Amino acid sequence: MAGNSYEFELDRIKALIKERGARRVGLQLPEGLKTVALAIAAEISKETGADVIVSGNSCYGACDIDERLETIVDILFHFGHTINPFRKSVFGKTRNGKPVLKEKIPKKVLFVELRSTVDIKPAVERAVVEIKGNFVGLVATVQHVHALDEAKTVIAHAGKEAVIGKGAHAVKYDGQVLGCDFSSAKVPCDEILFVGSGSFHPAGIALYTGKRVIAADPFTMRTSIFEPDELRKKRYVAIGRALDAKSVGILIGMKSGQCKLNEAITLQQKAIAKGLEAYLIALEEITEERLLGYKVDAFVNTACPRLAEDFIHFKKPVLSINEFEVVLGERSWEKLWQ
Ligand code: SF4
Repeated sequence: MAGNSYEFELDRIKALIKERGARRVGLQLPEGLKTVALAIAAEISKETGADVIVSGNSCYGACDIDERLETIVDILFHFGHTINPFRKSVFGKTRNGKPVLKEKIPKKVLFVELRSTVDIKPAVERAVVEIKGNFVGLVATVQHVHALDEAKTVIAHAGKEAVIGKGAHAVKYDGQVLGCDFSSAKVPCDEILFVGSGSFHPAGIALYTGKRVIAADPFTMRTSIFEPDELRKKRYVAIGRALDAKSVGILIGMKSGQCKLNEAITLQQKAIAKGLEAYLIALEEITEERLLGYKVDAFVNTACPRLAEDFIHFKKPVLSINEFEVVLGERSWEKLWQ
């Protein structure tokens, strides 16, 4: 992904810094755009006179604000995501574990959505031939969501009807999806057309909706197909491997916005009530290496759900909250994806 394929809104950023008289500025960019971070920092610093500090930590979503950096700057610009209405602080600012609502988010963190400047129509034209039914749900990541009406027109020219759904949880725009919020894909349709890059979102949409997903990547022009039955089978295998577990580690994400402490404690209590050994493990990054030392039979992930695809390769099963509830007999298999 080339840095010049996005609107970085540098004029708005520089104007805001001057307007607020900010002397120290933080920048947080997604992994794929760290290559352009230093050039952006240099330009901002040169034109505003502010000290600019780039976050070297991971940045996977709006749930992932660099809160330590935030404490030492006057403004923190967080690129690539929309504002997270359920931001929680893991550094003592959370009130009784409850989310800090949108209007309470300090004005210090400003979101730069990084809208793509790439024309999505050619990729959608290629992908549309893969649509089998007449009605298609149309979704995109925030980078392309502003262009969904153009995609709708392309689909109409192919004689199909596109439906753009409203998001119910953490998304800001109609048709927008996050790895943890596919609610805008729950529309009456035969299939889903996803506009964006990578496999996390389309695979998650297929799992969540049970519908075939056609993914159109405007950057690579590649079309990919995600079949729900194949993906669901992999999750059934993971659940099956955990059915005999005698001990579990329940993982709590310590990134701001991913910490589901109450849900994790409730799961631990339910697991103990069913005769399992259950432990709470808090961590920022979930990798197999970090879990190696823990002598349990399975793990339950209460942090970012988009990591599920990586977990397939872990030696021990890592289940989602819903999947673990199936193991505990608290949820039926039919309600696994609800
Ligand atoms: S999918 Fe994961 S990284 Fe993205 S917003 Fe949700 S919790 Fe954060």
